[in-house]
Amino acid sequence: MVYSKQVSKDVKTLKINHYPKKFKVEWSYLQEQFKYNDKIFEVFKKFIPTGDFTLGKPLAEFESKFAKIVGSKYVLGVASGTDAIKLSLKAQGIGHGDEVITAANTFIATVGAINEIGAKPVLVDCTDDFCVDYTKIEEKITSRTKAIVPVHLAGQMSNMPEVMKIAKKHNLVVVEDACQAMFAEIDRKKSGTFAKTGCFSLHPLKALNVWGDGGLIATDDKQLYEDLRKLRNHGLISRDEVEVLGYNSRLDTLQAIVGNDLIESAQFITDQRIANAAILDKGLSKNPGITLPKRYKNRKLVYHLYMVFADRRNELYHYCINNGIEVKVHYPIPLYQQNGLAFLGYNPGDFPITDYQAENLISFPMHQHHTEEQMKYIVDTVDNFYKMV
Ligand SMILES: *Cc1c(COP(=O)(O)O)cnc(C)c1O
Repeated sequence: MVYSKQVSKDVKTLKINHYPKKFKVEWSYLQEQFKYNDKIFEVFKKFIPTGDFTLGKPLAEFESKFAKIVGSKYVLGVASGTDAIKLSLKAQGIGHGDEVITAANTFIATVGAINEIGAKPVLVDCTDDFCVDYTKIEEKITSRTKAIVPVHLAGQMSNMPEVMKIAKKHNLVVVEDACQAMFAEIDRKKSGTFAKTGCFSLHPLKALNVWGDGGLIATDDKQLYEDLRKLRNHGLISRDEVEVLGYNSRLDTLQAIVGNDLIESAQFITDQRIANAAILDKGLSKNPGITLPKRYKNRKLVYHLYMVFADRRNELYHYCINNGIEVKVHYPIPLYQQNGLAFLGYNPGDFPITDYQAENLISFPMHQHHTEEQMKYIVDTVDNFYKMV
């Protein structure tokens, strides 16, 4: 099955011929984030001669700092967010022939992790809060279903209390994909702490960045923690003894050093994004061309992405780019319509909400280093667009 005919039109209309070199409101903040890096290099200088590169002391320090902030007993550094999901599933016995339910609108990494352990990803449509529609999960459960991977997309939260109820009823493992929602909350309980394991990414595009790839798994379960420790390090229990067949999936100690530096700013990162999102919410909610996603009083959203529904989305997209706002779309081609996932056997139209979002969502730049002026400039630019005939 080849879907590219159907979706290429939309992606083509998003293509920019002359991408500006400099934006007034840029997407990435990494240059700003790591402008002052003397402290990190000082630690590197002392650390490098120790040669303690694999599973070194700074890693244990980073893991325990993160555990404290997220509110879980144990945290384990792994090679990536994708691996965090993969190892979590593997450690809980999911593998060949099993089916794992996840959200249709997620990023490829979630589905990739499920596929890597030989399980079959089964997709469920989302709601307009960008997370899985839990009311549609049960109809996808078969005798082969072993796990659910809810995805907290864009800094939103899946309805974890409901997902956990369904999982309990059907005796399913739950692995939270919190890669886009570090420090989000429902009723003051943090993302990644509802299920047995919560998975986080330290990728440069995520909220807490290292200088490359990295991931974290949070759990309260001691046995699971011990099993995951083995899995990330070839299944070794000592230098010479392999207890299970595992992976090479350690978080680099050098990356943990970067993490230890940045984690001091975790509160600032979260608060500042929320403050910036509030400015956009206030300004854009007055605009009849824009519809905000549902905001819940008992949830803390962390705005990994700031996405809203926009009339004439593609035109607005180009207007913003031409006026110096580096907008993006997450994601213009739904996974189930990707050629690489055709083997899953879905048909165009199987996930109408996901499709609707691919055509109508726009992501405005959102990070902790944006100024109030930049946020207001976004609001004004969007106002100007819809004022034009
Ligand atoms: C980024 C991301 C991942 C995986 O993270 P990596 O660290 O890049 O492997 C998983 N799920 C979602 C939803 C993500 O956005």
